[in-house]
Amino acid sequence: MTRAFVHRAQAARVRFGAGALEQLAEEVDAVGLTRVMVICGPSHQELGRRVADLLGDRVAALLSEARMHVPVEVARRAGDAAASVDADGCVAVGGGSAIGLGKAVALERALPVVAVPTTYAGSEMTPVWGLTDDGVKRTGREPRVQPVAVVYDPELTVSMPADLTATSGMNALAHAVEGLYAPDASPITSWMAEEGARAFATALPALATDGTDLDARAEALYGAWLCGSVLGSTTMGLHHKLCHALGGSLGLPHAATHTVVLPHVLAFNAPAAPEASAALARALGTNDPARALWDLSGGLGAQRSLRELGMAEDEIGRVVDLAVASPYANPRPVDAGDVEALLRAAWAGLVPRTRRR
Ligand code: NAD
Repeated sequence: MTRAFVHRAQAARVRFGAGALEQLAEEVDAVGLTRVMVICGPSHQELGRRVADLLGDRVAALLSEARMHVPVEVARRAGDAAASVDADGCVAVGGGSAIGLGKAVALERALPVVAVPTTYAGSEMTPVWGLTDDGVKRTGREPRVQPVAVVYDPELTVSMPADLTATSGMNALAHAVEGLYAPDASPITSWMAEEGARAFATALPALATDGTDLDARAEALYGAWLCGSVLGSTTMGLHHKLCHALGGSLGLPHAATHTVVLPHVLAFNAPAAPEASAALARALGTNDPARALWDLSGGLGAQRSLRELGMAEDEIGRVVDLAVASPYANPRPVDAGDVEALLRAAWAGLVPRTRRR
C-alpha cells in the first residue's frame, strides 16, 4: 500500500534524567506558572513536601488526596482548593491517579498541569481524562488536560515495589502494542512504540533482579515516555476496551488487569496485524510476541489470571456485553464469541493462543 498517514504531534516540554526533579522549578517557570497547587496521593506526602520545598514561593497549596480512578467529589474538592488559593496551575506528582486528579482540575478550572510521573502508566503524555461518579467511570479527550511540561526522574521510580514495576511496565507495553495496529498510527508513533517495547523488554528483567538498578530504571521510564506518547497520539483498540470494562464494572486493579489481558488480545489480533507483529517480534526478540509477553509477566512474578485478581467466572458475560456494546477500532473484527473465548482464557490464566475462525 502507498504510504499515507496523519501524525498529531504533542506540544509538551519533557525533561528527562536522574535527578531531574531538582530542575522542576525551571520547568514551572518555563511554562509561566507562578502560584501552583501541588497534588499527590496520601502515600506520597513526603515527596509532595519535597516538591513544595523545591518550588518555594511558587507554591500556593499542597493537596495529598489523589485516589484511584479520580472520584468526582475528590476532583471537586481539588478544584475548589485551587480556586480558593487563586492557583494558576497544578504540579501533579505520582502515578496515573495523581496525574488524573491534576487533569480533573485542568478540565474543570482550565489550569495547566505540570506532571512528575512515578510509575509507567503514561497518563502524563495524553489528553485523556477520567472521572468516577457513583462507581461509573467516564473518560474523554480534551487537549487542555494534557500536561504542558513533564519531568521524568528515574530516581523517583526506584521505590516502586517489584509487583508494581512489573504490572505498570506491562500497562505501558499495552499502549505500544495497540498503538502499532491503531488506525491512526504514523511512522513516528510506530517507531516510538517499537522502541518503547524494546526498552521495557530489556529493563523489566533487569529490574526483577535488582529494582535499585538506576540504569534499568532510566531505561524503563524512557520506555514509559515513549509508550505514553503513543497512547496520547493514537486510538486504542480491543485491549484497552476490555481493561476499561473490567476495571470500570468490576473494580479490578488497573495495571494488573492490563498485564493479564494483553497477551490474549495480542494473540487474537496478531493474524490481522502483521506489521505490528513484526515490530513487536523485533522489539521482544521473538517470533511469538503474545507468548513472549506472557512469559515476560510470568518471569516477573505477575499474576496471569483474572481469577487471581478476584474476578468470578460468572462475571465474564457482563464484561462481554460491555465490550461489544459500543464499536471501537480494532484490526480484527470482534464478536461476542471472540471476546468470551478470550476472557475465558485470561480468566483461567491459559497460555495465549492465536485463534483463527
Ligand atoms: P496509581 O497512580 O493508582 O498508583 C498505584 C499505587 O502505587 C498507589 O498506591 C501509589 O501511591 C503507588 N506508587 C506510585 N508511584 C510509586 C513509586 N514510585 N513508588 C512506590 N509506590 C508508588 O497507579 P497507576 O497504575 O500509575 O495509574 C492508574 C490510574 O491511572 C488508573 O486510574 C488509570 O485509569 C489511569 N491512567 C490514565 C491514563 C490516561 O491517559 N488518562 C493512562 C494510564 C493510566
